[in-house]
This record gives sequence, structure tokens and C-alpha cells, in this order.
Amino acid sequence: MTYEFEPIGVIHSCFKEKFGIPRQSGLIPEAFGRLEILPPFNRPEAFRELECFSHIWLTFVFHAAIREQWSPSVRPPRLGGNRRVGVFATRSPFRPNPLGLSVVKLNRIDFSAHQVNLELGGIDLLDQTPVLDIKPYVPYSDAIPDAREGFAPQPAKPSLSIRYSNAAKTFLDTLDADFVRHLHSLLEQILEQDPRPAYLQGSDTRQTFGMRLYDLNIRWRIEDDNLTITEIDSCIRPNNAKPHRYE
Ligand code: SAM
Repeated sequence: MTYEFEPIGVIHSCFKEKFGIPRQSGLIPEAFGRLEILPPFNRPEAFRELECFSHIWLTFVFHAAIREQWSPSVRPPRLGGNRRVGVFATRSPFRPNPLGLSVVKLNRIDFSAHQVNLELGGIDLLDQTPVLDIKPYVPYSDAIPDAREGFAPQPAKPSLSIRYSNAAKTFLDTLDADFVRHLHSLLEQILEQDPRPAYLQGSDTRQTFGMRLYDLNIRWRIEDDNLTITEIDSCIRPNNAKPHRYE
């Protein structure tokens, strides 16, 4: 038997590519996004009293991880990428049905003429992710403080000090001050999670990494526990234009 589902909405995320997205929701509170509800689901009455909840569950499609074949075992990055465990013991995007489940902060619901938009925080979702369902997070049953954590205990944060090159600072000076404050916090929270592949973590590779946040290309390097943002530039805008906030 097969089932077909129609997305009720689409995510507009600060994360424009997979590299740099946290491994779980909630790890980067500053990671903002917007869930645009699509017709015919954009009926305000379908969201009545949802704003009473601080957090919501999203069921979504790992649309950028669709494969013809599935594998019964995967190598989670948490285990250094070299130990196989059953796919159903992981949160891997590569699964028989590529469905994801994230609990995110619901900051606001905007209703305007024929539009419903949910402003979110703490997301781990790629831009354009199709969302299939929304449910409120209910602490009395969803929070299980004494649950066993298996092979996924809370990871230690690396102690990296972050600095900006003069070129990066000069570029940031051309942007809106509020946006720059947000970007500093977002970068700090992303880099604290060390998004490098597991086999490079904790090492001093002197390799330059790049990621795309909003419409910015960001390059950085780690040397001797010092992380330097070497370059920031716009992929679509002339250097002196201001970005649209959080788009
Ligand atoms: N919290 C969700 C879950 O447990 O189902 C997602 C966990 S999964 C390990 C998180 C990773 O999925 C992110 O680091 C990102 O690389 C990837 N990802 C996020 N959105 C995606 C999408 N739409 N398609 C493919 N991969 C995606």
C-alpha cells in the first residue's frame, strides 16, 4: 500500500546549503526561518490557538536527500562516520521514507490577506524544505528528562575563539547593523557545533571551508584552536546593498 501526502507549507531558511546546518533542531537558537503555508491550507482557522504553544513539531521531507535505494544501516556523523548502525536507530536523512521530525520554536504567526506564515527559531532545515504537518509540542508528554540517550549524548563544545579577517569586517560594515549582530550570533552558534566532517573535527587542518547563509558566502579556517572568518561576500547582491532580514 502506498500513501501520498501534499506539503502544507515550505520552509524559507537561513541555511541555503546542507553544510553548516546543525545536526538537530534547537542547537542553534539563532537559526531563524519562516514556514510559508501553501493554499488550500492557509486558512487562519486551521491555526487558531497554535500561538499558545512555544514550540511545535514539524514533519517534513528530506527533499535534498532522496535516493532510489535505501540502506538498512548508516554511518552517523556522531560516531565519526566509521561505525554502522541500523537506519532506524538514527536520525539520518537517508531512510526508506525520507521524513524528518524537528521540534522548533514558534516565535510568531503572521496572518495577512490569504497568507499564513510561521516565524521559527532553532531550525535544522534546508531552504525550500517541504513541510507535511505541524503539531504542538506538549511538554507534559513530549519531554522525557530521564530517557536513555543511546550513542547520542550531548556533544562537548569545542573551545574555539572566533575572529574576523579585515576583509570580512570591511564587508560586514556595509550591512545593516541589526543584521550583522544577528549574523555574529548565528555564526558563533554554528561554528561552536564544529560543522566539519567528523574525521576532521578536533584537528588543525588549515583547510578553508565555505558555507552559504542567507545570500552570503562565508569562508573560514581553523588554525591552533583559532577560527578565522576569512571572507564574507554576497552571492547575489552588489556589495553595498542591504540583505532582506532573515530571508
Ligand atoms: N531533526 C530532524 C530529524 O531528526 O528528523 C533532522 C535531523 S538530520 C540529522 C539534520 C540534517 O539534515 C541537517 O544537518 C541537514 O544536513 C539535513 N537536512 C535538513 N533539511 C534537509 C532537507 N530538506 N533535505 C535533505 N537534508 C536536509
